Amino acid sequence: MAFLDRGARTMLLWELLSGMALTLTYMFKPKVTLNYPYEKGPLSPRFRGEHVLRRYPSGEERCIACKLCEAVCPAQAITIEAEPRADGIRRTTRYDIDMTKCIYCGLCQEACPVDAIVEGPNFEFATETRAELIYTKEKLLANGDRWESEIARNLATDAPYR
Ligand code: SF4
Ligand code: SF4
Repeated sequence: MAFLDRGARTMLLWELLSGMALTLTYMFKPKVTLNYPYEKGPLSPRFRGEHVLRRYPSGEERCIACKLCEAVCPAQAITIEAEPRADGIRRTTRYDIDMTKCIYCGLCQEACPVDAIVEGPNFEFATETRAELIYTKEKLLANGDRWESEIARNLATDAPYR
Protein backbone atom coordinates (compact mmCIF):
# COMPACT_ATOMS: atom_id res chain seq x y z
CA MET A 1 0.00 0.00 0.00
CA ALA A 2 2.79 2.35 0.91
CA PHE A 3 4.39 1.71 -2.48
CA LEU A 4 1.12 2.55 -4.29
CA ASP A 5 0.61 5.61 -2.20
CA ARG A 6 4.11 6.86 -3.01
CA GLY A 7 3.61 6.09 -6.69
CA ALA A 8 0.32 8.03 -6.80
CA ARG A 9 1.94 10.98 -5.11
CA THR A 10 4.76 10.94 -7.65
CA MET A 11 2.37 10.71 -10.60
CA LEU A 12 0.24 13.57 -9.32
CA LEU A 13 3.30 15.76 -8.54
CA TRP A 14 1.96 16.01 -5.00
CA GLU A 15 5.14 17.43 -3.38
CA LEU A 16 5.49 20.00 -6.12
CA LEU A 17 1.90 21.15 -5.84
CA SER A 18 1.90 21.28 -2.04
CA GLY A 19 5.11 23.32 -2.14
CA MET A 20 3.60 25.75 -4.62
CA ALA A 21 0.44 26.04 -2.51
CA LEU A 22 2.55 26.91 0.52
CA THR A 23 4.40 29.55 -1.50
CA LEU A 24 1.08 30.98 -2.65
CA THR A 25 -0.20 31.36 0.92
CA TYR A 26 2.97 33.30 1.91
CA MET A 27 2.54 35.67 -1.03
CA PHE A 28 -0.44 37.22 0.74
CA LYS A 29 1.05 37.37 4.25
CA PRO A 30 2.92 40.41 5.61
CA LYS A 31 6.61 40.34 4.68
CA VAL A 32 9.01 39.65 7.54
CA THR A 33 12.20 40.35 5.59
CA LEU A 34 13.71 43.80 5.01
CA ASN A 35 15.45 44.99 1.88
CA TYR A 36 18.51 46.18 3.83
CA PRO A 37 20.20 48.65 3.43
CA TYR A 38 17.29 50.39 1.71
CA GLU A 39 14.90 49.36 4.47
CA LYS A 40 15.80 49.30 8.16
CA GLY A 41 14.03 47.93 11.20
CA PRO A 42 13.04 50.02 14.23
CA LEU A 43 15.72 50.81 16.83
CA SER A 44 15.25 51.17 20.56
CA PRO A 45 15.89 54.70 21.89
CA ARG A 46 18.42 52.95 24.15
CA PHE A 47 20.35 51.49 21.23
CA ARG A 48 24.09 51.88 21.81
CA GLY A 49 25.74 52.63 18.51
CA GLU A 50 28.49 54.94 17.33
CA HIS A 51 29.64 57.57 19.82
CA VAL A 52 29.05 61.28 19.44
CA LEU A 53 30.02 64.39 21.36
CA ARG A 54 27.09 66.80 21.60
CA ARG A 55 26.83 70.58 21.61
CA TYR A 56 24.30 72.96 23.16
CA PRO A 57 21.97 74.75 20.71
CA SER A 58 24.30 77.76 20.97
CA GLY A 59 27.07 75.65 19.42
CA GLU A 60 29.06 75.44 22.66
CA GLU A 61 30.48 72.01 23.47
CA ARG A 62 28.64 70.26 26.28
CA CYS A 63 31.73 68.44 27.53
CA ILE A 64 33.21 70.08 30.63
CA ALA A 65 36.31 67.88 30.68
CA CYS A 66 35.45 66.26 34.02
CA LYS A 67 36.97 62.97 32.77
CA LEU A 68 34.32 60.82 34.44
CA CYS A 69 33.81 58.93 31.19
CA GLU A 70 37.52 58.26 30.90
CA ALA A 71 37.65 56.97 34.49
CA VAL A 72 34.61 54.72 34.18
CA CYS A 73 35.45 53.16 30.80
CA PRO A 74 36.23 49.50 31.51
CA ALA A 75 38.08 49.12 28.22
CA GLN A 76 40.23 52.22 28.79
CA ALA A 77 39.24 53.31 25.32
CA ILE A 78 38.88 57.03 26.11
CA THR A 79 41.80 59.46 26.31
CA ILE A 80 41.17 63.02 27.42
CA GLU A 81 43.48 65.99 27.83
CA ALA A 82 42.13 69.32 29.04
CA GLU A 83 43.14 72.86 29.88
CA PRO A 84 41.41 76.24 30.34
CA ARG A 85 40.56 78.18 27.18
CA ALA A 86 41.43 81.83 26.65
CA ASP A 87 38.11 82.78 28.29
CA GLY A 88 38.98 80.70 31.35
CA ILE A 89 36.49 77.89 30.65
CA ARG A 90 37.94 74.42 30.96
CA ARG A 91 37.53 72.33 27.83
CA THR A 92 39.14 69.24 26.34
CA THR A 93 42.07 69.72 24.03
CA ARG A 94 42.02 66.05 23.17
CA TYR A 95 39.14 63.58 23.30
CA ASP A 96 39.94 60.28 21.61
CA ILE A 97 38.02 57.02 21.64
CA ASP A 98 39.72 53.88 20.40
CA MET A 99 36.69 52.17 18.91
CA THR A 100 38.64 48.94 18.49
CA LYS A 101 38.73 48.68 22.30
CA CYS A 102 35.19 49.87 22.97
CA ILE A 103 32.73 47.21 24.11
CA TYR A 104 29.66 49.48 23.74
CA CYS A 105 28.73 49.11 27.40
CA GLY A 106 27.32 52.63 27.59
CA LEU A 107 29.02 53.46 30.90
CA CYS A 108 30.60 56.61 29.47
CA GLN A 109 27.15 57.90 28.56
CA GLU A 110 25.76 56.97 31.98
CA ALA A 111 28.62 58.72 33.78
CA CYS A 112 28.44 61.98 31.84
CA PRO A 113 26.76 64.72 33.92
CA VAL A 114 25.92 66.89 30.90
CA ASP A 115 24.84 64.32 28.27
CA ALA A 116 27.89 65.20 26.18
CA ILE A 117 29.16 61.75 25.23
CA VAL A 118 26.30 59.64 23.90
CA GLU A 119 26.09 56.43 21.95
CA GLY A 120 23.94 57.39 19.00
CA PRO A 121 21.70 55.39 16.68
CA ASN A 122 24.29 54.92 13.92
CA PHE A 123 25.40 51.32 13.48
CA GLU A 124 26.79 51.67 9.97
CA PHE A 125 30.35 52.78 10.58
CA ALA A 126 32.42 49.82 9.42
CA THR A 127 35.87 50.79 8.16
CA GLU A 128 38.58 49.21 6.05
CA THR A 129 41.42 50.05 8.44
CA ARG A 130 41.88 50.05 12.20
CA ALA A 131 43.29 53.58 12.04
CA GLU A 132 39.89 54.88 10.97
CA LEU A 133 38.45 53.57 14.24
CA ILE A 134 40.52 55.94 16.34
CA TYR A 135 37.92 58.66 16.79
CA THR A 136 39.18 62.16 17.50
CA LYS A 137 37.31 65.01 19.15
CA GLU A 138 36.63 66.58 15.74
CA LYS A 139 35.16 63.35 14.44
CA LEU A 140 33.01 62.89 17.55
CA LEU A 141 31.73 66.48 17.40
CA ALA A 142 30.94 66.06 13.70
CA ASN A 143 29.01 62.89 14.59
CA GLY A 144 27.12 64.88 17.21
CA ASP A 145 26.17 67.56 14.71
CA ARG A 146 24.98 64.89 12.28
CA TRP A 147 22.86 62.88 14.73
CA GLU A 148 21.70 65.55 17.19
CA SER A 149 18.00 65.51 16.29
CA GLU A 150 17.70 61.71 16.57
CA ILE A 151 19.73 61.62 19.79
CA ALA A 152 17.73 64.43 21.42
CA ARG A 153 14.51 62.59 20.53
CA ASN A 154 15.83 59.29 21.92
CA LEU A 155 17.00 60.89 25.16
CA ALA A 156 13.63 62.60 25.61
CA THR A 157 11.79 59.31 24.95
CA ASP A 158 13.93 57.47 27.49
CA ALA A 159 13.94 60.23 30.14
CA PRO A 160 10.75 59.10 32.01
CA TYR A 161 12.32 55.69 32.67
CA ARG A 162 15.62 56.91 34.10
S1 SF4 B 1 30.81 52.38 25.62
FE1 SF4 B 1 31.94 51.46 27.37
S2 SF4 B 1 33.81 50.65 26.46
FE2 SF4 B 1 32.96 52.07 24.95
S3 SF4 B 1 33.98 54.04 25.36
FE3 SF4 B 1 32.04 54.02 26.54
S4 SF4 B 1 32.59 53.23 28.57
FE4 SF4 B 1 34.28 52.71 27.17
S1 SF4 C 1 32.09 63.65 27.98
FE1 SF4 C 1 30.94 64.03 29.88
S2 SF4 C 1 31.88 62.63 31.40
FE2 SF4 C 1 33.32 62.80 29.66
S3 SF4 C 1 34.74 64.45 30.23
FE3 SF4 C 1 33.10 65.37 29.01
S4 SF4 C 1 31.58 66.07 30.52
FE4 SF4 C 1 32.93 64.61 31.59
